[in-house]
Amino acid sequence: MKVIDPVCGMRTNPERTVAQEDYGGVTFFFCSEECHRLFNASPERYIARVQQLRDASAEESGEQGYE
Ligand SMILES: [Zn+2]
Repeated sequence: MKVIDPVCGMRTNPERTVAQEDYGGVTFFFCSEECHRLFNASPERYIARVQQLRDASAEESGEQGYE
């Protein structure tokens, strides 16, 4: 299972992340303390972004070049 760091958009394994945060009932994972800190500064901004990234990754299994 892969997770997306909402701050930098990097896909990573939960075991490899250095930080995580529960927000609104969802757990977000971060590749670095820096990303974690940025997320905490404006979580809603990054949550909106990660939803877009998830939609984009769903597209990857289908057509290429959708954007
Ligand atoms: Zn990151």
